[in-house]
Amino acid sequence: MGELERLRELSRENKSLKSVIEKSISIIQGCSSLEDTRDARIRILGRKGMITAVFEGISKMPEDERPAAGRAGNEFRTLVTALLEEKEKEIEASIHMESRELEGIDITLPGRCPPLGKKHILSKVIDDVVEIFISLGYSVETGPEVELDYYNFEALNTPAYHPARSLQDTFYVKRSDPEREEPDDILLRTHTSPVQIRVMESRKPPLYVISPGKAYRKDEIDATHTAMFFQVEGFAVDRGITMAQLKGTLEVFARKLFGSKRTVRLRPHFFPFTEPSAEVDVSCFACDGAGCSICKHSGWLEILGCGMIDPNVFSHVGYDPEEFSGFAFGMGIERIAMMKYGIEDMRYFYDDNIKFLSRF
Ligand SMILES: [Zn+2]
Repeated sequence: MGELERLRELSRENKSLKSVIEKSISIIQGCSSLEDTRDARIRILGRKGMITAVFEGISKMPEDERPAAGRAGNEFRTLVTALLEEKEKEIEASIHMESRELEGIDITLPGRCPPLGKKHILSKVIDDVVEIFISLGYSVETGPEVELDYYNFEALNTPAYHPARSLQDTFYVKRSDPEREEPDDILLRTHTSPVQIRVMESRKPPLYVISPGKAYRKDEIDATHTAMFFQVEGFAVDRGITMAQLKGTLEVFARKLFGSKRTVRLRPHFFPFTEPSAEVDVSCFACDGAGCSICKHSGWLEILGCGMIDPNVFSHVGYDPEEFSGFAFGMGIERIAMMKYGIEDMRYFYDDNIKFLSRF
């Protein structure tokens, strides 16, 4: 039987010792250092300690009870002494183990650094683009990715027969009214341009807005196409906005993103929601326009599409095209990132390849 069990038995046999035994056990069990056990020994076994009080009590007992009580008191002292020694051995062993663990370890060495995560390259490019337009006074707006046909096509002057609305290009979700025999009109937005309509519907000019977000198209996935991709849409509506301001704005943007020597050129193009429309090229930042493999020896890199907002779009949001004019532009973030960082395949962005992602 261990000291502890015997002490508990002793406290049951001797009612007068019960409280002093319980108190001693709790003091010893509460020790966590050698200072604690030294103090405990003084409190329990010291000259002015609990044991002295016990024997003083015994001396006042009737003579015939004293021998048994005295034996119990002596046993209490023996057991508590053994229990304290046991506790001290336990504490010494744990101190020894801690110092062994520290042996051979140079505690002045710096700790191991856990690998830090960082922003995805596409998030970084989006931030860079948005930051440039914020510095030009634009505000950031976003819109839903699951969108109504009206915002994605109709209000953007894309009529029902337009090929962009075909089932091959667009992820249709369902009909908003299942009772009607009309084609599906809820879809995943095919561009970020619906945000133009949503903002114009709810606010009045002047508007200078930049809107980053995801868009979806049923493209065959290859080096330059993914079914989901990022766009940044920008537009300005105010009195007297001209195409010259559009070109100037894009030039400032291109220089901030690709370097101060860049120039831009606009090539006529067609978009349903702008008139006139243009595709925008920036002079190649790798060869300064001399021609290299990045620009396919043309000296120019296509970076975005733009144009003056079509008056038909204004009519959907109740703006007077005689009073207001505006421009809009949209760019693919993957394309910008691929050019800027020399990435050949768009699929790398979505491959979850840490080696690739940590390059940037
Ligand atoms: Zn080049």
